[in-house]
Amino acid sequence: MNIIALFGNPNTGKTSLFNKLTRSYASVGNWSGVTVEKKVGTLRDKSALLVDLPGAYSLHPLSLDEGVTSRFLIDEPPASLINIVDASQLERNLYLTVQLLEYGCPMVIGLNMIDVARGRGILIDEQRLSRQLGIPVLPIIARSGQGTRALLQHIAALRTDSTADDIPFRLDYGKVIEHTLQQLTTAIQSALPDRTPQYARWVALQLLESNPVVEQYAASLLTPDFIRQQTEQCQQQLAAGGADITPSEQLRRVRTEWIARLYSQVADHSRADSRTLTEKMDAVLTHPLLGIPIFLLMMFTIFKLTFDWAGNLLADQIDALISGPVSSGATSLLQLAGASAFTQGLIVDGIIAGVGGVLVFMPQIAILFLMISLVEDSGYMARITLLMDRMMEYVGLNGKAFIPFIIGFGCNVPAIMAARTIEQRRERLLTILLVPLMSCSARLPVYILFAGVFFASHQAVVVMLMYVLGMIIALGLARLFSHSPLFAREKSFFLVELPPYRVPQPLSLFRSTWEKVKGFLHKAGTIILAGSVAIWLLSHLGMQGYGVDMDHSLLAAIGGLFAPLLDPIGFGTWQAVAALLTGFMAKEVVVSTMNIIYHAPTMEGLGVQLGSAFTALQAFSFMVFILLYTPCLATVSVIRKETQSWKWAGFSILYALITAYIAALLIYQLGRLIGYS
Ligand code: GDP
Ligand code: MG
Repeated sequence: MNIIALFGNPNTGKTSLFNKLTRSYASVGNWSGVTVEKKVGTLRDKSALLVDLPGAYSLHPLSLDEGVTSRFLIDEPPASLINIVDASQLERNLYLTVQLLEYGCPMVIGLNMIDVARGRGILIDEQRLSRQLGIPVLPIIARSGQGTRALLQHIAALRTDSTADDIPFRLDYGKVIEHTLQQLTTAIQSALPDRTPQYARWVALQLLESNPVVEQYAASLLTPDFIRQQTEQCQQQLAAGGADITPSEQLRRVRTEWIARLYSQVADHSRADSRTLTEKMDAVLTHPLLGIPIFLLMMFTIFKLTFDWAGNLLADQIDALISGPVSSGATSLLQLAGASAFTQGLIVDGIIAGVGGVLVFMPQIAILFLMISLVEDSGYMARITLLMDRMMEYVGLNGKAFIPFIIGFGCNVPAIMAARTIEQRRERLLTILLVPLMSCSARLPVYILFAGVFFASHQAVVVMLMYVLGMIIALGLARLFSHSPLFAREKSFFLVELPPYRVPQPLSLFRSTWEKVKGFLHKAGTIILAGSVAIWLLSHLGMQGYGVDMDHSLLAAIGGLFAPLLDPIGFGTWQAVAALLTGFMAKEVVVSTMNIIYHAPTMEGLGVQLGSAFTALQAFSFMVFILLYTPCLATVSVIRKETQSWKWAGFSILYALITAYIAALLIYQLGRLIGYS
């Protein structure tokens, strides 16, 4: 099948268009760094494959995710390109457009965000733009789908039309550069006889720009000596001609001048507002003093809503359903079918209690994620990274690392992948290692359960405290690690991109929340189910065979082995150890384990049991331990993949365990000192 690729700067609406044109769903966010890997989907009419790529300002990669674009152009030459440009930021967007035109593949421009541009009083003459660039330019609004049909028709036409008689796009880079380009192009052309001269020229151009991805590729085509000789000669001749400038600077200069001239011909700013609504809102929301308090207040409201105002009410309903009709229904059915006590126990007290005990928390999780999606899509999230930049710099990271941190509140796995947007190797590694301290949704059921039992009247505050604590410890460790010899220092820089505020779209909010809920349900049906079965079996099997008293079960034996170690931090019982061990698979399993071993029919019943097993201080220490103690299995494996090192994967477990132990020890011992038990 034909391949159509979506290219464009970050945050210009590529993924929105991708979702409109295909049946798949990829996450959209009003900030850069949301898409870090290419995504493939089939067009709705099944005529071609559409590839969504990470955003880039130019083909020259600054970070790992940006390298994806150049590599794609080399390895998987697409049949055609859609270049999405943001009409409200056209001039800057055209830089990538020029590089893509030089690549020479049939291309259509989707002039997106025309609603935004119009709102700001910027008018673009798309017909003139189309004539000047020599390719179709189609105004669209990707998020509502307006204009996308016409865009598709033009793509289809591109595919059927022969483009042989088109004049290839070409800028004149001046005598010296053109001469070098000529030399390089000829050499590349003879190494690649079946590619077009246009492509060879593009490779030569990218070589002169020292695009590392292309340099690597060219090394297999030309001898390194030849390339070096050509670029050095070019440099010398530029200097001899009185221009104190590198070839890549010269390329940039010619392009930006050409773009500026073009832009002045196609854009009309005469009606533009002097101060936009976004600027007015930013004056308050990113205010140096007010910014952080507003952010904290907003977080607090979100947690209040998640627990006190809506979530708990819904959760109680689900609990009543599972512990009532579902359990008793299953029991009667099994009795009717003549199932043995073993089967009944496994299904009702193992699977239904274990999986159901976690499912109960779905409403809170859904509400929290709806809220986070709202913050992301409105554009406020990008402001938070700006607000945090100073603090992040103090600890040896930069504001960009805050993005993976926030994604980590959902799930640590994609968050660790999102660290690819960070340019500096050291900071990327540090971010990857610290992301697991961000409290992911899997830990939420544990907090809700414990906070509900022990801190019922302050549930929202206590749960929020867990999130804040994770963040504070991550920042503290970042400062510690970045001053240690483990992490070689590099100079850091941060270019924050502030998108305009946008009213989030209900459908896209719903979809991104649903994606997360779906992930949660999927986990309940797989890992948590398997975990529940294993825990139930282990808690009923002993040295004497099946059906032993739980205190003599294998689970109790394994737990008892480590329990003395946990005495100093307040929960040296085999039950707590068993829950922690199984929680390594997935942290929700901690709750399943509690449900199974305390064998409680309802949440309330479990609460009573927990209330006698833990004191409030012990419960708090346990919650903090759960927050910190180790990344889950899936997270450890993605750390190993992203760092390409078992050593760092092992380090992530080790430092987390040590930190958790110290934190819980401090809490428990200090708590006892001041009179709690
Ligand atoms: P990507 O980074 O290029 O993949 O961009 P996304 O598809 O993630 O979109 C970035 C933001 O722009 C999201 O908040 C979208 O809802 C929003 N957006 C996309 N297209 C349009 C459009 O045509 N008009 C407006 N007003 N917003 C849009
Ligand atoms: Mg995207």
